[in-house]
Amino acid sequence: MDVIPGAWRRTAAGAGLLSPQGEVAPTIFAEMSAAAVRFDAVNLGQGFPDEDGPAEVLEAAREAIAHGANQYPPGRGIPDLRLAISEHQQRFYGLTPDPDTEVLVTAGATEALTATLLALIDSPDDEVVVFEPYYDSYAAIVALAGARLRTVPLRRPDFQPDAEQLASVVSDRTRIILVNDPHNPTGAVFSPEVQAEIVRLANRHDAIIVTDEVYEHLAYAGPHVPIATLPGAAERTLTISSGGKTFSATGWKIGWVHGPAELITAVLTVKQFLTYVNGSAFQPAIALGLRLPDAYFDEARTALLHKHELLAEALHAAGFGVHSPQGGYFTVADATALGGADAAAFCRALPERIGVAAIPITAFVAPEHHADYAGLVRFAACKRVEVLEEAARRLKTLG
Ligand code: PMP
Ligand code: GLN
Repeated sequence: MDVIPGAWRRTAAGAGLLSPQGEVAPTIFAEMSAAAVRFDAVNLGQGFPDEDGPAEVLEAAREAIAHGANQYPPGRGIPDLRLAISEHQQRFYGLTPDPDTEVLVTAGATEALTATLLALIDSPDDEVVVFEPYYDSYAAIVALAGARLRTVPLRRPDFQPDAEQLASVVSDRTRIILVNDPHNPTGAVFSPEVQAEIVRLANRHDAIIVTDEVYEHLAYAGPHVPIATLPGAAERTLTISSGGKTFSATGWKIGWVHGPAELITAVLTVKQFLTYVNGSAFQPAIALGLRLPDAYFDEARTALLHKHELLAEALHAAGFGVHSPQGGYFTVADATALGGADAAAFCRALPERIGVAAIPITAFVAPEHHADYAGLVRFAACKRVEVLEEAARRLKTLG
């Protein structure tokens, strides 16, 4: 809950962005994927699907290339994708962003997040409140933007934040409350009470809510509720998502952000100097994807839920304690009973030991708070059923 001195930081010596340990470090995802390749391990680490998304979406990208969509698209994104994003927000959530002024296409959710924080942070005293564990890029971007990171812990068993702790961290210094719902890595979906409290605090302290909803179509307990739909939220909320998860196309990097026009314009002023634009041929394909019938989204969610169930069974059988997720790609498991009380060491050894790769939750936690999450491991469920079955066989050999 304190200001985090040990987070990623920019150096004055021209060495770029250093890890909390002061190292030039690859991301945990790159490190574990490399280990998976080295030891021919089943990769349940980095969150990417191992099969393609809908054939018509892939075909639309091929068509777009064949028909000359190969030069810079417009800075805000092609008009038809912005329209498709707006229609999608209306169809699923009743939100009606104006495609011309309130929607911006970005190079993945990652660029939307980066441009948003760089655009909105004014001073080194500005604070960004994140929920810990947090997606790894958040702390890195806060460091790049030169702001202060404040954390609110998500607590077991359901990984919801405590309302009083949240209220004690948000103050008039808070520029941004950064929400990720459904949540990576814990699989939490924020309760209506937590969402309402975030909106109340943002209004009280005049903070902006930035919400990362890349797993919006993977909420298992009921329909996803964007925080922008709550009373008093839309006028101070930037909603971010991307096509990577929804269409199993994480390499395409087509994302977006929508919200009040003046905030979107501010984000655009930064975005134009990060990538300027990207993905000319992928933009029309994602537009087509966003207009697929409801059945596509329902089936994708059901299929992933089934995979989570297979994974949970395998983890139970191997002796892990399992936290079944309410949303997203990942299942969190407790490795303590398997000698994994130090999950970081456990995960580093796992590819060579049994041929499975996974990510320690401490990779998403500031060093000061590692002890609170030390035995937890994140497993990706977004892999083919036969791959999960092979992982199950290998995990059984752990005991
Ligand atoms: N936010 C979260 C919570 C994620 O898990 C990811 C990546 N899987 C991203 C952002 C990045 O999304 P993109 O690939 O669209 O940049
Ligand atoms: N979001 C993916 C994950 O959580 C990884 C993306 C990346 O490697 N940057 O696994």
